[in-house]
Amino acid sequence: MFDLENRVALVTGSSRGIGEGVALALAEAGAAVAVNYRSRAAEAEAVVDTIKAVGGRAAAFRGDVSLHDDVQAMVRAIEEQLGSIDILVNNAGMVMMRGLDNVTEEDFDRDLAVNLKSAFLCTQAVLPGMRARNWGRVVFISSIGAHTGNGPPSLGYVASKAGLEGLMRGYAQRLASEGVTANAVAPGLIETEMAKPLINENLIAHIPVGRAGQPEDIALAVLMLVHNGYMTGQTIAVNGGVLLS
Ligand code: NDP
Repeated sequence: MFDLENRVALVTGSSRGIGEGVALALAEAGAAVAVNYRSRAAEAEAVVDTIKAVGGRAAAFRGDVSLHDDVQAMVRAIEEQLGSIDILVNNAGMVMMRGLDNVTEEDFDRDLAVNLKSAFLCTQAVLPGMRARNWGRVVFISSIGAHTGNGPPSLGYVASKAGLEGLMRGYAQRLASEGVTANAVAPGLIETEMAKPLINENLIAHIPVGRAGQPEDIALAVLMLVHNGYMTGQTIAVNGGVLLS
């Protein structure tokens, strides 16, 4: 499927893990992809090389998406190099393992800045172009934790992901008539660097499909949302049957 050939996508935090999987899938569908990272330039360049090796278009862009000025500079650079952004996947995130008794105010602020405010900053930065062209797709990578409240991730992580889904609905409601959709994907346990410390046989035994998810499982859901202009304001759960809706 090369129907995204004239589209430009920004996937935040796509130097590895779920973001990398989403970036590769969008590139395979024909989009030019901006691979965003915060600190690991070599990993981001490796994703770009993988895309270019099969004839795709991509470039790496550094930027801490929790910072307004970084986001503005990054979006400007992407537009200069690749063109106006049509597809935004708000994927960048971090997790802290904190119990009720050792979570601090600083932890909470950091969780909200990196996992929630970042999506607001990036979406606000790309929306004027999407609205002017009457076409846009914004996908928010939430978490099963927003729905279960389960630890060990910190309270701030759970709250930020629930907030992300509220933010998504706010955008969906305001943009439906302008050709711009907003949706979320809520992954369960996905085998990435972030989740590796959590994965053990006991946890896998509680996943009905019998395995941890892979970044490609999330990428398939993102692609579906990008292709479907009639779907907006929804959260797609991709969790191996752990939580049924
Ligand atoms: P990883 O830790 O494997 O990757 C995180 C990515 O985000 C990296 O590319 C990292 O880049 C980037 N990143 C982190 N902070 C920032 C920042 N401030 N600015 C820009 N980039 C940043 O995580 P996953 O792939 O597992 O997670 C991706 C998303 O999926 C997250 O939002 C996470 O909450 C969510 N999720 C993951 C689940 C899982 O089981 N893995 C389950 C549910 C949700 P760098 O290293 O350069 O900083």
